[in-house]
Amino acid sequence: KPDTSIYERRESRVRSYCNAMPRQFNRAKGVWLEDNQGGRYLDFLAACSSLNYGHNHPVLKQALLNYIEQDSITMGLDLFTDAKAAFLDALENCILKPRKLDYKAMFTGPTGTNAVEAALKLARKITGRRNVIAFTNGFHGMTLGALACTGNEGKRKGAGVSLPDVSHEAFDGYFGPDVDTAALLERRLEDSSSGLEAPAAILVETVQGEGGLNAASFAWLRRIAEIAKRHGALLIVDDIQAGCGRTGHFFSFEPAGIVPDIVTMAKSLSGYGLPMALTLFRPELDQWKPGEHNGTFRGNSHAFVTAAAALRHFWKDDSFASTVRARGTQLQNRLEQMAQAHGFTTCGRGMMRGINVGTGELADVITSTCFRNGLIIETSGADSHIVKVLAPLIITENELNQGLDILENALNAA
Ligand code: PLP
Repeated sequence: KPDTSIYERRESRVRSYCNAMPRQFNRAKGVWLEDNQGGRYLDFLAACSSLNYGHNHPVLKQALLNYIEQDSITMGLDLFTDAKAAFLDALENCILKPRKLDYKAMFTGPTGTNAVEAALKLARKITGRRNVIAFTNGFHGMTLGALACTGNEGKRKGAGVSLPDVSHEAFDGYFGPDVDTAALLERRLEDSSSGLEAPAAILVETVQGEGGLNAASFAWLRRIAEIAKRHGALLIVDDIQAGCGRTGHFFSFEPAGIVPDIVTMAKSLSGYGLPMALTLFRPELDQWKPGEHNGTFRGNSHAFVTAAAALRHFWKDDSFASTVRARGTQLQNRLEQMAQAHGFTTCGRGMMRGINVGTGELADVITSTCFRNGLIIETSGADSHIVKVLAPLIITENELNQGLDILENALNAA
């Protein structure tokens, strides 16, 4: 067994993943990780959807190496740089124009929670209102504003104080399939005695990545978009986990036919695991005054370079997305078979799916067995009762089946 005592001595207990994976990892390529004792693992976590294009993708790696070789700018803050220009150009030509979307981009700092903070501040500034509607089981980040919007009370507890100005309304399906939660929200907004203040924003994930892989129906998302519009609130879609192709479309909201006022992105945006976050908003909302929102690492050129390469390589047409959709169907078919064999249910959309095994304890047993057999896989949901498959999107049909075989054997053995 490898010596992991340095972590026990010096690293905070705050880490939530990997306690059940006592190995020291040192190399990774595509969908595979290796530990320093030669162990090989198929990666069904993909750094929580930050490595949709896999580890060390050769095209992205070469773009970064070429850039570094030239002693180029590493940190530009707000300067106009070649790297930022390349990213904005790729965003415009590979993502926005083909989808007929018109957004301006704001670089908010290194991680997703920064993008959410910027979105919340912008919505409050534009509307002059303070309340935000977020949803049960939503997850939006760990800084205080984003955490206030996070539905899971266990996660909010760490703040030590109550976090104000957010109402957590019921997400689609929260009360079961027969309760129309959009209608409940609408009624509460229209009833002045409900205590629900007029919101600055409605903040929603289309598929709740951390909160249990609950996928909102497209019809529900359209209703929420209409409600936001009718009540003068801005619609913010948090696409930090579900975006960058995870559901089979670059933006997860595309097939619902909605156009959010604001979109937050991070995780797989840089494509190479480099920190990068982005808040997109309708051009009319660009009412910031310089200095009202920034962060030192907002202009990380290396992330711009790999992000631009990723957008050009994977999103020049629909072929990558259509392969991801096919892989998502393969995943769903196999998960459904496994779930049915054990009386469980499946959840999710595209390539973010899982099996609800009922309890966190059972999910832990299953993920630990998977790890021992060479598969890195984690859980989701308030009780960690969902075994969650988040494989890199570049995974082949065979590799996906290989990992699912390990999962199936672990389910059978549990
Ligand atoms: N929003 C969503 C939907 C997320 O899944 C996450 C992270 O898991 C965040 C926001 C926060 O992003 P970060 O951890 O990069 O701050």
